[in-house]
Amino acid sequence: MFSLQGKKALVTGSSRGIGRGIALSLAKQGAAVVINYNSSEEKAAAVVEEIKQMGQEAFAIRADVGNLESIAAMYTEVKKNWGKLDIQINNAGILQYKPFDQVTGEDWDKMIAVNLRGQYFCAQEAAKLMKDWGRIVNIASVSSGGVGIAFPTISHYTTSKGGVVGMTEALAVELGPKGITVNTIAPGAINTDMGGAGDEKVTQALMARLSIKRYGEPEDIGAAAAF
Ligand code: NAP
Repeated sequence: MFSLQGKKALVTGSSRGIGRGIALSLAKQGAAVVINYNSSEEKAAAVVEEIKQMGQEAFAIRADVGNLESIAAMYTEVKKNWGKLDIQINNAGILQYKPFDQVTGEDWDKMIAVNLRGQYFCAQEAAKLMKDWGRIVNIASVSSGGVGIAFPTISHYTTSKGGVVGMTEALAVELGPKGITVNTIAPGAINTDMGGAGDEKVTQALMARLSIKRYGEPEDIGAAAAF
């Protein structure tokens, strides 16, 4: 496969789950990677160590992508360390199960701030550090809407992911002429905390909808992102 040697990457929410799988895949192809996390400091440090063991550069930055000041501080640190960024993976996300008629304004604001506004402003900061070449990958979901796989009791999550798909198309048009491509990956059910792999009720409900009757693994999405 191709090499990402010399490329500098940042993966939001890469302390665990899909983000970790993507960070390891990028490092495997030769990229240096920033591991962003919000609360899982030890897990982030373990991913940094794994990447260093592979012979690649990595360091962790704590930043809440639901907070604009926190996002700005993260990219200031990236600029200080590297002076540029080549690859931005917008992966950090949250999920909440709640029937539509019980979702509060607070639930909505948090979901949109982390899953949609966070991706938008991370992409904006990342693009400022990309010099004539850049790759931005936004993680949406099969329940982004438009593909007929909506799940009940996650309407605000689905809305946020639908926004990610529209945002990706809009940014691709504006950033393409600058040598920056913008794409979405829409994973199905993946074996992570959010994917509910340890929760029998969630797993049963998901498997009833899935043709392959098993979870995908974080490294499957990692390979797609590296490609
Ligand atoms: P996960 O296992 O819950 O991991 C979430 C990651 O996001 C963690 O590293 C977490 O960091 C980070 N994160 C959460 N809130 C954050 C915040 N405010 N600021 C910075 N980082 C934050 O989730 P996952 O399954 O890997 O999902 C990753 C992405 O894939 C999400 O965008 C999700 O919507 C999408 N997705 C997942 C599935 C699935 O089946 N798993 C399917 C479709 C799409 P800390 O631990 O440090 O808080």
